[in-house]
Amino acid sequence: MGYTEDELIPLSALQHLVFCERQCALIHIEQLWDENRLTAEGRIMHERVHETGRESRGKVRVEHGLPLRSLRLGLIAKADVVEFHFVEDDKWQPFPVEYKRGKPKPDDCDKVQLCGQAMCLEEMLDVTVPAGAIYYGKTRHRLDVEFNDQLRKQTEDAAGRAHELIQSGRTPGAVFDKKCERCSLVTLCLPKAAHKKRSVQDYLIEARRSE
Ligand code: SF4
Repeated sequence: MGYTEDELIPLSALQHLVFCERQCALIHIEQLWDENRLTAEGRIMHERVHETGRESRGKVRVEHGLPLRSLRLGLIAKADVVEFHFVEDDKWQPFPVEYKRGKPKPDDCDKVQLCGQAMCLEEMLDVTVPAGAIYYGKTRHRLDVEFNDQLRKQTEDAAGRAHELIQSGRTPGAVFDKKCERCSLVTLCLPKAAHKKRSVQDYLIEARRSE
């Protein structure tokens, strides 16, 4: 099954979904975005690398801001950077590179986003993209990522689930978790307050049951 042009969703939704379904819904259904210092730095970094253009460094051609799309996964995006590594004759191997302000995260959200880019490139250019990299600004480290079967399945599942969630128009309730401390929407989501509210409701339900 594929998607039409009108059904495409931003590839960034996958990264948000893998991090937290509620965050994905707040951004992509409710259009909420809390710009703080960290997100502003990340946005400026992306704007810089997104500036469209092309450069050549020996056997590597570098494309900035390349538009990406997959009708199979229903995704649309702009790549930070796609390197094309010379193989032979007129053969060049695409290698997506994503720029992140922070450092490597304990979950796979950045890898899923990068793998989504690779799968868009594969569909658009009819090639196989076996690997890419994520550059982390805080650690100034480039992490190589192999697009293995497990990561590809995780990316496909995330794309399907993101479509389902956005289509439903329903935002899941907040569940406070350690990752909330790293969430750019914590001041809008108020997960601790929402959790307390739910606990009071649970308390009342239990109290009525025991009457
Ligand atoms: S604060 Fe926590 S529950 Fe709320 S959107 Fe962020 S990660 Fe999800």
